Amino acid sequence: MLFSPKLIFLLISLGLFSSLMADIQCEYCGKPITGKYLIVDGKSYHEVCFREHVQIRCDYCDKPIDGQHNVMDGKHYHIECYRDHILAKCDICGEPLIGEYYNDYWGNAFHAFHRQELHECNSCGRLICESLTGGGFSLNDGRYICSLCNESSVEDTYVVETSLSYVRDLLAYHGIDGLPREIPISLVNKTTLRSISKTYSDAMQGFTDHSAQTRNGEIISRNSHIYILTGLPLIMFRAVLAHELMHIYLFENDLDLRSDIREGFCNLGSELVYQADNSRYSKFRLSSMMADRDPDYGLGYQKMSKLLDDRGWGYLLENLATIR
Ligand SMILES: [Zn+2]
Ligand SMILES: [Zn+2]
Ligand SMILES: [Zn+2]
Ligand SMILES: [Zn+2]
Ligand SMILES: [Zn+2]
Repeated sequence: MLFSPKLIFLLISLGLFSSLMADIQCEYCGKPITGKYLIVDGKSYHEVCFREHVQIRCDYCDKPIDGQHNVMDGKHYHIECYRDHILAKCDICGEPLIGEYYNDYWGNAFHAFHRQELHECNSCGRLICESLTGGGFSLNDGRYICSLCNESSVEDTYVVETSLSYVRDLLAYHGIDGLPREIPISLVNKTTLRSISKTYSDAMQGFTDHSAQTRNGEIISRNSHIYILTGLPLIMFRAVLAHELMHIYLFENDLDLRSDIREGFCNLGSELVYQADNSRYSKFRLSSMMADRDPDYGLGYQKMSKLLDDRGWGYLLENLATIR
């Protein structure tokens, strides 16, 4: 979102005049004026009446305002008072938010130009810096991850195994079962993932390699090996794992679907993980999936998610082969 603060400048014209006759009356107190007086916007005042009762005062410091000032929500401010005390401050550099600025999903507001200077976290979308994320890391494969996301980053086999049993149970609860007992999972960097997968795209976080052994034209065994990027935060790791397990479900059931139906269906696994977690981070990931315009991972997912909402898992799993 892009905002530009609205500054309104008002100018009061003050003139100091001198009256010798007593036929001029003060607009404020109604009494006749002799000696020096003020004319403001065509009206005459005793100087004291004007200064104490008519002149606009700053809603921040309560001192009178002469000349140019800022008005916001019907309140008046000296230009300095407005800039230093009323204007919101940038959450990155602390300076007042003048000019173009952004509000991110996490409630941070910052100058637009910081987006050119800083890297976005590949997981949560925050700009990586001391004030927003407590710093972050650049991974050797070109990814950036902030310190907040890095706290739960998945790098060891214990977390991989507990996540596998968690996601298996979650999917089985919705009818996605019959997956192989043993499913090897390897954590790899982006460079390796790119070389393993046949259809690599930059947004890819995981890939599953399927193979089948046949005898006399009959499949006698199937194998699937999951590869997932190392260093993903736990919830994202589980969402990617769920997506890949959905691929294995399709493979085990000989369901060869059109790419948008296939990736859309597999993303329903990620959706389940994020919905079950229900954290602010998961809601961010769900809204990113809903906003994605990719024909398979975005539009395909949105189509399948709607179908799931309308018809439920039972219908979806029974009719997968015929969905167009
Ligand atoms: Zn007066
Ligand atoms: Zn002031
Ligand atoms: Zn700033
Ligand atoms: Zn992050
Ligand atoms: Zn996929």
